[in-house]
Amino acid sequence: MLNLYLNVIKFIIDLGGKILLLYKMLEMKSKKRTRSKIIKLLDSEISKYVRMSNADSKWFITCISCWVRIPFKKAHCCHRISRWCLRYRFDLDNLAPWCAWCNTYRPEFHIREYTIKQIEKFWLDKVNEMRDLSKKVYKIRTPELEEMLEKYKELNKIQRERLGIK
Ligand SMILES: [Zn+2]
Repeated sequence: MLNLYLNVIKFIIDLGGKILLLYKMLEMKSKKRTRSKIIKLLDSEISKYVRMSNADSKWFITCISCWVRIPFKKAHCCHRISRWCLRYRFDLDNLAPWCAWCNTYRPEFHIREYTIKQIEKFWLDKVNEMRDLSKKVYKIRTPELEEMLEKYKELNKIQRERLGIK
């Protein structure tokens, strides 16, 4: 009889442990999902900011690479150092508006032209430093990403007002 009780208790403890493990796994998964969702939203807000803040009063931007003039709504936001690099993914020094043609069909031309523009703007030292730092590990906490998201939402409100966008 005692054995039966012990077995029942052991079974309950095992089950409790499994439920706790499952709960922790689900919690981790939802945290991860929240972070990736914030990153996605931040990409979108920064893209809007880069295109709107570079637009003139007629809502046109100039492609950083080929200098074609297009409406900002049709432009893309490009990253000279790839978006895979979290350090520069949301850094305005690494972002510029460009046309869909450069984005889709001429990535090499685009990167070369954009690099030249960055050297003209920041000097070679800074461009080299960005290249070196982009290869190093970089961590950014989720609350910092959330803070940035809120900041760009506010900045975009100002840009919409400036351009008269309803
Ligand atoms: Zn272009």
